[in-house]
Order: sequence, then C-alpha cells, then structure tokens
Amino acid sequence: MAKVVVSGGAGFLGSHVVDELLARGDEVVCVDNLVTGRVDNIAHLDDNPAFRFLEHDVCDPVPLDENVDAVMHLASPASPSDFGRIPVEILRVGSLGTENMLSIAKANDARFFLASTSEVYGDPLVHPQPESYWGNVNPIGPRGVYDEAKRFAEAMTMAYHRNHGVDVRIVRIFNTYGPRMRPEDGRVVSNFITQALKGEPLTVYGDGSQTRSFCYVDDQVAGHLALLDGDHLGPINIGNDGEFSMLELAEVVIKATNSDSEIGFMPLPQDDPARRRPDLTEAHSKLSWKPTITLAEGVSKTAEYFASVLGL
Ligand code: NAD
Ligand code: UDP
Repeated sequence: MAKVVVSGGAGFLGSHVVDELLARGDEVVCVDNLVTGRVDNIAHLDDNPAFRFLEHDVCDPVPLDENVDAVMHLASPASPSDFGRIPVEILRVGSLGTENMLSIAKANDARFFLASTSEVYGDPLVHPQPESYWGNVNPIGPRGVYDEAKRFAEAMTMAYHRNHGVDVRIVRIFNTYGPRMRPEDGRVVSNFITQALKGEPLTVYGDGSQTRSFCYVDDQVAGHLALLDGDHLGPINIGNDGEFSMLELAEVVIKATNSDSEIGFMPLPQDDPARRRPDLTEAHSKLSWKPTITLAEGVSKTAEYFASVLGL
C-alpha cells in the first residue's frame, strides 16, 4: 500500500490510473486544474476515503501537507486541437509543472513517474520507433509546443535523477483511446466515433494514408503500473504495435458502430507525422508487458461509452 500523488488525475488516462491504484489498495491525491479534465471522470470516487481531489494548477507549487511514496505526473493537455488554443499552458505544464512535481518527489524521497509521449520522436525517420531514436521535431511548428515541452520534461526528469538522486520512471505513450475521452477532444478516435454515431461524415485529414498505432486504455494503464512498480527507469514505449492508416481506422469505426457515415476529406494539419509505430522490444523484455486488446475490440468498447454519454 502506498500514497500516490497523480497530476492530471481528472483527465482521460489519469482517471483510469487513479482507479487502478485505488483498486489495488493505494491512497491517491489527485491534482488537476480541469483545463482539459472533467470532474465527471472522478465523480464515482467522491465517497472513497482513500481518494482526495485537489483542484490546482501544478505550474504553481503544490500545497501538499502529507508524505507520499510516489508522484505520477500526467498533467498536460494532449490533443493536437489544444496545441494552437493553449500553447503557453502546454509549455508551462511540461516545464514548470514537471519541476514542481519533481520537487515533491525529491522532498519525499518518492519515486517519480513521467507521462511522456511518442511525439518526442516527431515525424520519425526511423520506423518503428525504438527508445534509442532521438527524433525529428520541428521546434517552431505548431506541434513544437507539445513535443518540446515533453522533451524538456524528460531532460528535467533525468537531471533530477542524475543530480538530485530522484528515483524516476519515464513512459513514452503512443496514441491511447477509450472511455472518458471527451467527445469534443479533437483526437481522431473520439472524432470518428462521435461522427459515426451521429451519422456525420468522418473527417479524414489529408489522404488518410498517414498511420498511427492505437492502444486501448486498459493496456496502457497496465503498462504504467508495471513501469512504476519495476526497476527499469525507461524511457520505455507503451502502446499497441498494430499500425493502421486513418482510412483503415475509419473503416473499423464505421463497422463497430454499424454506421452509414461517409468519409469527408479535410486538409492535413502542418507537421502531422506520416507514420508512427512503437518498437515494443523493451516493453516485452524489461516489463514483460504487451498489449492484449485489438483495435476492433477497443473501438467497440469506446463507442459504447460515447453512445451512452451522448445519449445516442
Ligand atoms: P487529458 O487532457 O484527458 O488529461 C490531462 C489532464 O491534465 C487533464 O485532466 C487536465 O485538466 C490536466 N492538466 C493539464 N494541465 C494542468 C495543469 N497545469 N495543472 C493541473 N492539471 C493539469 O489527456 P490524456 O490523454 O489523459 O493525457 C494524459 C497524459 O498522457 C498527458 O501528460 C499526455 O501528454 C500523455 N499522453 C497521452 C497520450 C494519449 O494518447 N492519450 C499519448 C501520449 C502522451
Ligand atoms: N486525424 C484525422 N481526422 C480527425 C482527427 C485527426 O484524420 O478528425 C488524423 C491526424 O491528422 C493524425 C491522426 O489522425 O494524422 C492522429 O491524430 P490525433 O490528433 O488523434 O493524434 P496525433 O497522433 O496526431 O497526436
């Protein structure tokens, strides 16, 4: 049993991490300013004595009056549709927010866990992407605010590890989806499913040949806990190595929702990575972790969730 601070715990992924920690008997303090998170994601925990919610921006020092064993830093907007809307907030939470959370870990001699991203690889020139690849990022492009914030966060995490002796873990998360994403989140899986459920055209950007590798949230969270509990520092890729074009994803979504939606093509955003797939060799060998849920299964579960919250 441990006490864990989770930043971003009212968000999509963070709220699932919180649920898993509580389920195994840990106590959780969730710190979130709700910029992209929702109290609905944690409302079921209201009466749980092992859970506490602190509405707070982690760019400011976090007022914690208790000792903790682990700090999990998941706070950060993550949808490309937020990159142009709140770019400075994204840079701040990746830099100031990361240092504030690291300072809690240092003061408590606690383990620190950073939610990094496959976006540190940018528009990758190596495929699939192993952790040893340094990436291909445009620092001044619209995605730079997120990519560079996360690259900075990794660098800051390793500096606290090397120079302040903090015990750290870094996960590089590949596109993850599932219940509790916001229907209006802007990411491709939530967009396609809500569009398919409403019978609207699926907005495929560009010609739809770009690829991504989509991981269901339960698999992702299992990877996080394996990393948190184990001895391997990372960075480590956690994702599903099934690779799909956006046209293939659209087909999967249309089938899973039994929709008669058509495809509507839209312009490709600037610097949109052409392809992305995790090399999972390290995840297998260091964490004995691998994904178990197929895209078709995961999309069906996620569509059930969206249908229920949207009343469709
Ligand atoms: P999300 O937007 O649902 O969750 C992020 C949470 O962080 C939200 O609850 C938000 O309110 C909170 N937050 C943001 N800035 C904050 C601040 N300054 N102070 C306090 N709270 C703040 O997104 P998500 O998909 O759940 O992502 C969670 C983490 O995982 C992020 O760090 C993201 O970069 C990382 N990640 C996610 C994916 C993915 O595919 N879902 C992929 C790569 C990395
Ligand atoms: N995309 C799309 N239609 C949408 C939203 C996104 O075709 O409605 C594409 C986007 O251009 C990208 C891929 O889907 O190539 C994944 O986008 P997402 O925003 O989910 O995540 P990313 O991997 O780009 O961070």
